[in-house]
Amino acid sequence: MIEIVSASRCVTCDVCIAVCPTNVFDRGADGVPVIARQGDCQTCFMCEAHCPADALFVAPLTHPAPPGSPLTDEQHVTETGLLGSYRKEIGWGRGRKPGARVAIGPQLGRARVTPPATPPAETTSTPAPLKT
Ligand code: SF4
Ligand code: SF4
Repeated sequence: MIEIVSASRCVTCDVCIAVCPTNVFDRGADGVPVIARQGDCQTCFMCEAHCPADALFVAPLTHPAPPGSPLTDEQHVTETGLLGSYRKEIGWGRGRKPGARVAIGPQLGRARVTPPATPPAETTSTPAPLKT
């Protein structure tokens, strides 16, 4: 579930408000989104993926993190690199390696760019006539 909006990182672009499928955020008076309906969060990570400032942290939990959890502590998630880490892992953001390249894998990636000269044997070979 969404746990943290970092006011110090947020650039008040409203993207997270727009992409959230369950309308979890309200725009705060200062432009920084407020987690207004945390219970509606479905932990889809879309807000964190789209945030251009790595200002959001979605904990990989189906319920709010318990009181006192380090996952609700902005200093902790910042120092441990968790803040915005989902976006980093999928490779979104300037200078990052697109996560799709890792997900697909180098073999399939090459195969799609340079198909093999001859298709695999099982798709082209004609069955030999049966010997009687
Ligand atoms: S994780 Fe998904 S549902 Fe939860 S606040 Fe972000 S965009 Fe909305
Ligand atoms: S997407 Fe990130 S920078 Fe933009 S308003 Fe939301 S938290 Fe702030």
